[in-house]
Amino acid sequence: MSHVCWQVAQGADTIGGTVIVLAADGWRLVLDLGSLYTPAQPVFDSRLRPRGIRDLQRLGRAPVVPGLFTDHQGVDSRLAVAISHAHFDHCGLLPYVRSTVPVWMTAETRRLLTALPDAGLGPEIGALDLRTACPGEPIRWGPFTLTAVLVDHDVAGACAWLVEAPGGRLAYSGDLRLHGRRPYLTWAFARRARDFQPDVLFLEGTRVRAAPSPETEQPELGEEAWAGALARCLETAPAGAYIAVYPMHTERVQALQWAVRMVGRRLMLTAPTAYLYAAMHGQVACSAVLGGDEDTWTPAVRQWLTAQRLPVWLPQQLHGQERAWVVELPYERLTAWVDIRPADGGLYIHADANPGGPFDPAWANLLHWLDVFGVRLIRLSASGHATPSDLQALLTVVQPRWLVPVHTLAPAALGAPHIRRLLVQPGQVYTASGQVCNGMSERSEGGPDG
Ligand SMILES: [Zn+2]
Ligand SMILES: [Zn+2]
Repeated sequence: MSHVCWQVAQGADTIGGTVIVLAADGWRLVLDLGSLYTPAQPVFDSRLRPRGIRDLQRLGRAPVVPGLFTDHQGVDSRLAVAISHAHFDHCGLLPYVRSTVPVWMTAETRRLLTALPDAGLGPEIGALDLRTACPGEPIRWGPFTLTAVLVDHDVAGACAWLVEAPGGRLAYSGDLRLHGRRPYLTWAFARRARDFQPDVLFLEGTRVRAAPSPETEQPELGEEAWAGALARCLETAPAGAYIAVYPMHTERVQALQWAVRMVGRRLMLTAPTAYLYAAMHGQVACSAVLGGDEDTWTPAVRQWLTAQRLPVWLPQQLHGQERAWVVELPYERLTAWVDIRPADGGLYIHADANPGGPFDPAWANLLHWLDVFGVRLIRLSASGHATPSDLQALLTVVQPRWLVPVHTLAPAALGAPHIRRLLVQPGQVYTASGQVCNGMSERSEGGPDG
């Protein structure tokens, strides 16, 4: 029997694009299959699209994992995937996975990933062998026993994974935070991981920077406080109020609905966001839908709107009526302002939507549009990721034998006193005890320089 070996095949020093491959006894388990998100140099975009996984691999946007993707020859019945949550930087490569490979995820993540293409907000993943992981219930896969443990993140159904394997125990955090509406989930994961006594903890470090900055440690606007902060903005808004949210964060859309109701306005969502919310919550979140883009609606969205008899407003109907509404207006729909002709004093509330900030070239363009239409920008953010000090607190609870930073631009800056850290080298394979392995199929005697 061979001991488990592991490799961070992608995402050790990037934010997202995480792919961790574990191997033991000829079996393999892949934790997350993320797309890399680099808006400053997207490599592929809406004009230049990859033809398949080979294009992504050739351009360094996907790792080579034999037997996993559709372009590869040969079926490997001893290969499986476990996904932490529905964000594309963790599951964006799923459309390229062979339909014979089992893919585990929580029920909520599965519901989201199924509803997204129906809403027109994500790629089709219909042919995959999707399997539901019940949180806390161990799943046997060859020599691996994997268990999903729920955590709090800015999307429903997010989980961490605990993996027991021959010769080692490995824990993977996925993305998590302590300032969401369910911090107790993340704490419970930390305690459960502590009891699991992991040899290796793969921990996300999104907000860790090489040099500490006030931005990464600023007092956090928690998810709970977000609706109140929004209501205060809206209360004093003299004219139109527009908002950009992340449609997949349906809990945030729910908070938006509360805030809008609190200030006596009505909520108008784009059709895909309205559909996705209803698919996840079984309720309608808005009083009307913003039309003008009907040609882009999917059949599922059209059918749902017909059944709901929700009014569809054309942008020009909002002219002179803005004060009664809060209108979801994503970047892609900014042209609606040409027809709305916003009154003076309008607000654009940016709540963790795309473009995400000045690091994205589209941000400067957003500012230009706001300037042209005289609409004031308010950023109202509640991050999906733990602050560096919260990460340290979690690490102190878990006490892994090795910390392996992932999902961060500054792996060397993530850590806690007395916890050994392993900074992975590209392409390198390791054992559970942090030693260099000769390869995924090798035995685990390892090298001298762990
Ligand atoms: Zn992520
Ligand atoms: Zn995430």
